[in-house]
Amino acid sequence: MPTESTFFLAGLFIIAAAAGWAFARFNRGADAAAPISADYIRGLNLVLNRKTDEALELFVRMAEVDDETLETHFALGHLFRRRGEVDRAIRVHQNLLARPNLSEDQRDQALFALGEDYLSAGLFDRAENLFGDLSDSPSHGKSAQQQLLSIYEREQDWKLALEVSRKLDSPLDDSDRIPHYLCELAEKARRDGDLPRAREYLKPISKGRRGSNRGILIRAAIAIEEEDFDTAVRLYHRVLETDGYLIAEILHSLVESHRRRNSLPELQQFLSKLMVADPSLEADIAVAAILSNMLDEPVLYAAVEAFILHNDTLSSLVDLEHLTSLDAEPRRGVVVRIAGGLRRLAMGSARYRCIQCGYSTRRFIWNCPGCKAWETVRPVNRIQFEGLLFADDSTTAKVT
Ligand SMILES: [Zn+2]
Repeated sequence: MPTESTFFLAGLFIIAAAAGWAFARFNRGADAAAPISADYIRGLNLVLNRKTDEALELFVRMAEVDDETLETHFALGHLFRRRGEVDRAIRVHQNLLARPNLSEDQRDQALFALGEDYLSAGLFDRAENLFGDLSDSPSHGKSAQQQLLSIYEREQDWKLALEVSRKLDSPLDDSDRIPHYLCELAEKARRDGDLPRAREYLKPISKGRRGSNRGILIRAAIAIEEEDFDTAVRLYHRVLETDGYLIAEILHSLVESHRRRNSLPELQQFLSKLMVADPSLEADIAVAAILSNMLDEPVLYAAVEAFILHNDTLSSLVDLEHLTSLDAEPRRGVVVRIAGGLRRLAMGSARYRCIQCGYSTRRFIWNCPGCKAWETVRPVNRIQFEGLLFADDSTTAKVT
């Protein structure tokens, strides 16, 4: 249903259009088309009396009368769409398109607006067809391609998305979407068992650019499938050296790869070195170990124990003096129990958040559904545990 503000804003449009008409008429003299004035006043009355459909009919007839009313109709169509009255918006734009004397630019503008109406109505096939027809338009081609891209991303049609974005982005553009489209295609090829094709997709992704670490992770997964654990370990280490936040996604495969090549001491050494270079990573590694339930490795257990002992929230809930006075074995028992409680809490809630729009999610994703940006989702480890602990008194009691 139309809202109060719809009527009010529609009224404003008509007043603005009537004022523009009156101004033009004053400048042109008395021979200007007089009947439009009466139409605008009738239209205003209809809108103010909430007879939107009748007002719409009137506007549609006006479009047949005067080119000057075109922009008003575009504004009105836009207004209807913004207010969720998509049927009315479609009606306005279809009627504009039925006009025989539209210029090419005006026709493309009306087609583009109609495409946006279809998008709002969830009619993606129709929108795709319209934007496809407009993709070579001199005035609306780029915008139509942008809209096509968002449709292909929504439909996860990565081949078409790649095709359109290659047209849109210049080779010097630092766009991060193309590497991610390639990674999506590579990941699918890998899942389908076509490893050579997966490698082909990954080849053009340049080192050091966004998306490149995602490509490296796919190559590591391929290496594991081929039981080439040396390569897998080398690739995982390379990713962690630049993007430590990915540890939670990698830890399980990393530890398993080291186990398979009997190189766990090397893993200890590598993680210790990482934590010395960036002490904040200790918490990330601890949380990753808690979530992956991997406290067997001494370096991981040590990180978890330090995390529990040095976390302000957790330490206020645990009798630290008692815990530190315990011998190694009983202390380990308490730490493992607390870690188990934290894992159960964390599994049931959002552990990642988009740094751009704040969208929260339980699992790691490369493309944010909230703002459509790539590679903006990060773990919220430390904040998350505190939020969890204060969120529910019964679960807090369990941890203590
Ligand atoms: Zn976002």
